[in-house]
Amino acid sequence: MPDLNTDVRYIKGIGEQRAKSLQKLNIHTLQDLISYFPRAYDDRSKFCCIKDLQPGESACVEAMAAAPPTLNRIRKGLELVKLRAVDGTGALDITFFNQVYMKDNLRSGETYTFFGKAEGTHLRKTMTNPIVEQEGSRTFTGRIIPVYPLTAGISQGMLIRAVEQGLNACQDLLSDPLPLEIRRAQGLCDIGYAYRQIHFPESDEQLEDARRRLVFEELFLLAVGLKKMRRRRDESTCLPYQNTDLTDFYGSLPFSLTSAQKRAVNEVLADVSSGCPMNRLIQGDVGSGKTMVAAAAILCAVRNGRQAALMAPTEILAEQHYQNLRPLLEDMGVACALLTGSMPAKARRGVLEKLSGDETKVVIGTHALISPDVAYASLGLVVTDEQHRFGVNQRAALTAKGERPHLLVMSATPIPRTLALMIYGDLDVSIIDELPPGRQKIDTFAVTSAYHQRIYRFLRKEIAAGGQAYIICSMVEENDAVPDDRKAATEYAQTLQTQVFPDLRVACVHGRMKPKEKDKIMAAFAAGEIHILVSTTVVEVGVDVPNATVMVVENADRFGLSQLHQLRGRVGRGKNKSYCILISDNHSEESRARLKIMTQTGDGFKIAEEDLHLRGPGDFFGRRQHGLPSLKVADLTCDMRLLKEAQKAAAELLEQDPDLEKHPVTDQRMRQMFDLDPNTLN
Ligand code: ADP
Ligand code: MG
Repeated sequence: MPDLNTDVRYIKGIGEQRAKSLQKLNIHTLQDLISYFPRAYDDRSKFCCIKDLQPGESACVEAMAAAPPTLNRIRKGLELVKLRAVDGTGALDITFFNQVYMKDNLRSGETYTFFGKAEGTHLRKTMTNPIVEQEGSRTFTGRIIPVYPLTAGISQGMLIRAVEQGLNACQDLLSDPLPLEIRRAQGLCDIGYAYRQIHFPESDEQLEDARRRLVFEELFLLAVGLKKMRRRRDESTCLPYQNTDLTDFYGSLPFSLTSAQKRAVNEVLADVSSGCPMNRLIQGDVGSGKTMVAAAAILCAVRNGRQAALMAPTEILAEQHYQNLRPLLEDMGVACALLTGSMPAKARRGVLEKLSGDETKVVIGTHALISPDVAYASLGLVVTDEQHRFGVNQRAALTAKGERPHLLVMSATPIPRTLALMIYGDLDVSIIDELPPGRQKIDTFAVTSAYHQRIYRFLRKEIAAGGQAYIICSMVEENDAVPDDRKAATEYAQTLQTQVFPDLRVACVHGRMKPKEKDKIMAAFAAGEIHILVSTTVVEVGVDVPNATVMVVENADRFGLSQLHQLRGRVGRGKNKSYCILISDNHSEESRARLKIMTQTGDGFKIAEEDLHLRGPGDFFGRRQHGLPSLKVADLTCDMRLLKEAQKAAAELLEQDPDLEKHPVTDQRMRQMFDLDPNTLN
């Protein structure tokens, strides 16, 4: 008996070979398979008799092969199979290009369903390369067909069959995570029905019903999980910190904190002296000085006898934090250690010993900080930087290393406040909405690709003057679930190196490189050994290269504004004037309006508001930029009302059944969504 966690290879009709292909789409279990939702639909439900076929319109025709199909070999690579089909109202001349097998597949006297675009005239109707199915078969014709995101080696047909097999296999297995009372109150359909209709809708109305239900389910589970986390922390207590006077620290800095930084620090200090563990998100634009808030929190933890850990998403970022924070903290008499995955075993052992012996009070590192063999003597504060790179579960893994430690999350993705409060239901939010004084504006231009030569000349000039440049290059194929950015970036870098800048040093980084390799190139760029860095969006994460003065973004219209803003934040970090050039050949009004905003403002929050307004929150929430589970169906601008309803329903459910003892399916699906261990979050 299969269950939803059964490997797809054991599902009837799928097997080893197809399961291998499905893996490329991250489909491993039956649950993954039925949750692989279509990105669009192709309506093939309309039937028509031959007489009524309108040239230019697509329809299904049920017709009989009037004679055996004929094969014409025009030349190599051009083979035509022709067939005349009749249905009693007229005749249809069908041509298949390079599908020789059709000659044997179609038999005179049999009836088939043909789906395709009618062509020709009212006198002679034709169809080219229609989809063909045996009479009565309804897999690819006669209904609304899902269109799935694909990747190389996988066809729509294969996926459609696989999903259908999956749906059949789990007919009796789906337990509903939405309690019946809630479904009743909200008028939401049953789970089995929803899964079937989201893949193979009988009509637009049914599709809408299914979508609404799945969106609600997703938002509901999200709300349940966040509320549980929040409640857990509201109920837990810890010793309040006593020593929170940081006057000497402020005095040691080469600048004074901005008032926004001060406010954030004060909020942090209030949290840690409250007697409840802090759970705070610091949101601040790139360059707003979030690290100083972290430094203050770290120092405060140490002065109260506790250890502090700062986790960054990459080695180079961890190292950068280490370089920046170590002198500040050492000035205050606090020693720091660095812990990354690439450290030699011996050095690593030394750090681990000092951490478990409470000799080292502050450790800065990567995921290495949460390795099972890392033990802390008295971990009291956990700081994560650039939090959208970490999942909730990774945060949880680090906090589990201490006894209810304080948590400080730093994020550079500005999110409008109302939305942030809803989304980060489990965190308090501090916003740093002010940049340190004296920052230069980054001049931003939106141009078309006709400007390439001028841009190259400009880059040359900047580099001659001692600067460096980023070029961001992405390729997003409509159909690809996994776009091949790597190819685009490496090829572009090669062209630039050989044909445009043979005398300069051009390098390339992309997301599919090994982290070590990537860090090596980033480090070389930071050291000034590379003039032009061609990259996919991996540089988005806050690496500091003050010498970089130009950011060029190819196909800028493909990025969200907030993402562009992040990218732009990579330059303008030093004393030299910096520039951002956004290249786009998309002349649509929306695209132009969006890029224009970039040229007009440098305020990340304003940009986020505009982005949300112009194209919805897909940017924040569609891609995993927030550390929360990614939402498969919900879109939070359109579904804001549903989000509120879902939150209300979640609150009511937890009121009645705080530990979800009576709702095990809800509990289990929520954990799955957050990717939580069964043991965390009790
Ligand atoms: P982010 O918020 O992007 O992480 P950082 O903390 O890296 O920003 O700070 C960016 C730069 O600004 C650093 O070089 C830091 O030393 C400097 N900085 C931070 N706070 C101030 C301040 N109040 N006045 C002047 N410079 C500051
Ligand atoms: Mg930072």
